[in-house]
Amino acid sequence: MNGTLASLLGYQPDELRGRHVESLLTLAGRIFYQTHFFPLLRLHGRANEIFLLLRHRDGRDVGALVNATRRERDGTVVNDCVLIEVRERRKYEDELLNARRTAEGANAALQARTREVEAANERLTEQAAELELQTEQLIDQTAELEAQSEELQALNDELVERGEDLEQARNGAEEANRAKSQFLANMSHELRTPLNAIGGYVQLIELGIHGPVSDEQRTTLERITRSQRHLLHLINDLLNLARIEAGRIDYRVERVIVADLIANVLPMIEPQLAAGQLSLSVTSELGLAARADPEKAQQVLINLLTNAVKFTPAGGTIAVDAAMTGSPERVAIRVIDSGIGIQREKLESIFEPFVQLRERKTEGTGLGLAISRDLARGMGGDLLATSEDGAGSIFTFLLAASPASD
Ligand code: ADP
Repeated sequence: MNGTLASLLGYQPDELRGRHVESLLTLAGRIFYQTHFFPLLRLHGRANEIFLLLRHRDGRDVGALVNATRRERDGTVVNDCVLIEVRERRKYEDELLNARRTAEGANAALQARTREVEAANERLTEQAAELELQTEQLIDQTAELEAQSEELQALNDELVERGEDLEQARNGAEEANRAKSQFLANMSHELRTPLNAIGGYVQLIELGIHGPVSDEQRTTLERITRSQRHLLHLINDLLNLARIEAGRIDYRVERVIVADLIANVLPMIEPQLAAGQLSLSVTSELGLAARADPEKAQQVLINLLTNAVKFTPAGGTIAVDAAMTGSPERVAIRVIDSGIGIQREKLESIFEPFVQLRERKTEGTGLGLAISRDLARGMGGDLLATSEDGAGSIFTFLLAASPASD
């Protein structure tokens, strides 16, 4: 027994010389030694890692793992035993175990982490693919937008060009219109002078200044006069329209009492009313006032009343009424007749210059309503017509209302 084992059991090596090994074992150790360890050694010549409980000198148990080999030396059987104190081994084993556990833990953690990294990697790969797809889409969209932008630019260029053309065309048209109006104004003036001369000379003949006039000649002279007047009327109307269209009319808009406006024009058509055997009624809201140029408003009313008389057969009725209407509130002066009426589809065209629905049956120039509507609009109002063919017409002359505070 070497010094290490002796001191492990609390002895000096010399003290143990000659002692049977069994005396150094616990009871359990001795039983195990006899039943297991020793028979194994004898049978196989070796015994590995057999656990034996040894007894310390002070009575403590000392656990040891024994590796033993059996051999013969000089005719004597010798059992060589190497002991490892179990406490030590346990300690190493525990440490090893702990280390292993730590390593296993670390390994598990590593594996978990690896899995996480793999999953993250997969997600990243997916996202990268998605990003790539989105990038491709963006590139496509950018190309599309670029194409659209180019198209828009081209359209814009075209629009600018057209705008310039239009501007030119409009300037041209305005210029032409001004020239036309100027021409009409000049022509009207040039035509009126000789026409007045014709009228004057006819009157001189009629008065017999150039000798006696026969009945036949007088009839002819009357025809000449009628035609001369008609032409003069036409030219005056044309001159008016030309002036209105050239914007050369000034409107002096003021507060007008509507009842007065109507009362002022009635005497002018009374002779025609009597001649046409027509009856007239007038109703107007008390104190009704409008914003209008009085002279031009009268001209419109005269035109409307003259037409009503012209297009209503004998025995018919004409009514003028005035009231507030619509929102925003305006003054509506209506001229209503029981005359021949106007076909619904012709209602707008009668406001065009030179439109006459019944050719040459009546006197007139076809300019009255065109002028009247221009005048009504010129002073901030309007002129509208409604009719049932054969059941009379209603012309509505609208004007801005003038409140009492005006
Ligand atoms: P004019 O009376 O000189 O012919 P207007 O411009 O005043 O010209 O009227 C244009 C046409 O509208 C008339 O020729 C007529 O056919 C139609 N018209 C106008 N007023 C009436 C009315 N009250 N009833 C029926 N037709 C009308």
